[in-house]
Amino acid sequence: MKKYLLTPGPVQLPKEVLGAGSAQMISHRCEEFSSLFKGISAKLRLLFESESPVVILPSSGTGALECAAVNFLRPGDEFISLSCGVFGERFREIASRTGARAVSADFTAGEAPDAESAAALLREHPEARAILITHNETSTGVTVPLKDIIAALPAAKRPLIMADGVSSVGAMEALPEKWGIDVLCTASQKGLMTPPGLGLIWLSPRALAELDKRGCPSYYFDLKLHLAQMTEKSYANPYTPPVSLYYSLDAALEVILAKGSRDWFAKRRRWASAFAAAVELLGCELLVKDKALRSAGVTAFSAPAGGSEATRKILSALGFETAGGQGALKGKIIRAAHYSDWGWDEMNDILTAIASSIDADTKDDSYLKTAQQIFNGN
Ligand SMILES: *Cc1c(COP(=O)(O)O)cnc(C)c1O
Repeated sequence: MKKYLLTPGPVQLPKEVLGAGSAQMISHRCEEFSSLFKGISAKLRLLFESESPVVILPSSGTGALECAAVNFLRPGDEFISLSCGVFGERFREIASRTGARAVSADFTAGEAPDAESAAALLREHPEARAILITHNETSTGVTVPLKDIIAALPAAKRPLIMADGVSSVGAMEALPEKWGIDVLCTASQKGLMTPPGLGLIWLSPRALAELDKRGCPSYYFDLKLHLAQMTEKSYANPYTPPVSLYYSLDAALEVILAKGSRDWFAKRRRWASAFAAAVELLGCELLVKDKALRSAGVTAFSAPAGGSEATRKILSALGFETAGGQGALKGKIIRAAHYSDWGWDEMNDILTAIASSIDADTKDDSYLKTAQQIFNGN
């Protein structure tokens, strides 16, 4: 049986990535590893359209968020936390454990923080050291208008902008330097189509200067230590890195960049729009009402007549593994991720499986026709 992994990480990988990950081990202190790491860094500069460094950690996305928090926040600091779901809350909790104090704003599931609220919070809390925002809220399938939010904050008074891009980077535009982000965290296993296990942190010049001013209470996650090993002469890690994942990440970035990142993102977006239109035609309800906020990476919807969990079970038996709701949405929604490099054939399989799982009238195949039209850009 052909299997489809529709969970928001890990995702099905391109064959180039699978092949690259099976390479024989090399020493992480040799020239070959240094050039592999350097090559990845060059590709990340192209992806982020920025010359600033990206630290690569052996961790999942949560580890990258924790690393960002312990390097930039201290007990007694105040930070603004904008959240519209489970991952926004998680970032807040991670940051709170440093002893820093959260000023929180929560937004309804399926909606996103907006520029006015962010600007108003900053006016009320001008001393805040950082603003924490999730770029793509994976628990609801919302892409937050991060660029617009940052643009609405007065540049001279802007605290550090710390963004969780774990489920955005690689699948959608995330341009940290152009948008004014200071710390952008991500991970290997979603939009970057690599096996799980790498956390990545892009750092702005302002963030780098901040690091210079302070020590880090974490030994393993000390960003300064990592940065000190990334020099013109050689690229290395302070501790043993997961070498195989570096090969895989390099291959995945090659796949994305070979198509051109902008074209790559546009295809993800068309896939998501086509998929959303089709499930709606099948009688499902999309969680995110505002089209402009719908994620290119993950779509959340509920099956007709409250049958989301039953539908997920049937889909799973057919070989289609989706995710359910988290937190208050547990049992209520289906989350289907589409970070893999799928084309029309795969969407056709997935939509047909959803139609049969919810017992839709499949004699009427307008849902497929509409999806194909949107996917083809007509
Ligand atoms: C998946 C995810 C995380 C957590 O990543 P792990 O790799 O599971 O630790 C954090 N934030 C967002 C937005 C995510 O989608």
